[in-house]
Amino acid sequence: MQNARDALIWQLEAGIDECISETPVDRFKQVPTPSAAGGALSDLATGDTASPLAGRSRMSGRPLGAPVQAAKPIPGVQTAWEVASQCASIAKLEQAVRAFDGCTLKQTATNTVFADGNPDAKIMFIGEAPGADEDRQGRPFVGLSGQLFDKMMASIGLDRTNLYVTNIVFWRPPGNRNPSTSEIAVCLPFVERHIELVGPDVLVPLGGPAAKTLLGVRQGITSLRGKWHPYQTSKMAAPIESLPFLHPAYLLRSPAHKRESWQDLLTLRDRLASGS
Ligand code: URA
Repeated sequence: MQNARDALIWQLEAGIDECISETPVDRFKQVPTPSAAGGALSDLATGDTASPLAGRSRMSGRPLGAPVQAAKPIPGVQTAWEVASQCASIAKLEQAVRAFDGCTLKQTATNTVFADGNPDAKIMFIGEAPGADEDRQGRPFVGLSGQLFDKMMASIGLDRTNLYVTNIVFWRPPGNRNPSTSEIAVCLPFVERHIELVGPDVLVPLGGPAAKTLLGVRQGITSLRGKWHPYQTSKMAAPIESLPFLHPAYLLRSPAHKRESWQDLLTLRDRLASGS
């Protein structure tokens, strides 16, 4: 009995905190199919969760908004670009994301977490991935880090009536692991289209994965935060200003860094107040 309890505790600590099917599946006995063995498995093998787009924009010469060029084509990415580019409104985009089956995260998630807040807001925040609370409620940033996010926003006069918030992936990664390169890449066409359709004045990536993905750089969040970076897709006439923030979940783990975040909040508040 004690052994079973220890095994359960060990699983919980390893992030296995949910049953996702009635019967266990021995994945070591499964032969990967060509479509499932593409980017996803190679990412998992290398553990590479860095930006799928590192150097993808002006730095790499990849035309802005063009499909990601990976070593191996990632299944679903091309379809995602095609579907996303045809969405002419946020409502259509939401419908398309909900209907999209090309991201493996969807298979284990309870809900699609599309966005929250006011799509007419001047400011758009983009986090990393829904957690357990977000997955249950179908809304981004409603768990513990969401509560800190709301407090940070309130300190500069923002709330969900005057901000818009989403994530770089629309489904919860099991056990709250980081989303893989291929999971991010397959959601990115929808995220880029989302930004184009919202058309905010200011874009705030929350945390390293969101900042690296959107800005197409490899630098860490500690060097990206607190500085303005241009963000542009091929469909945008001019770049949007982007100000990466430390992720609220990181601030919960490392409260000493709240000081830097307070400075970033003031920078953002001044930018919004100046209106330019
Ligand atoms: N963390 C995120 O990055 N996004 C959420 O929606 C919740 C927690």
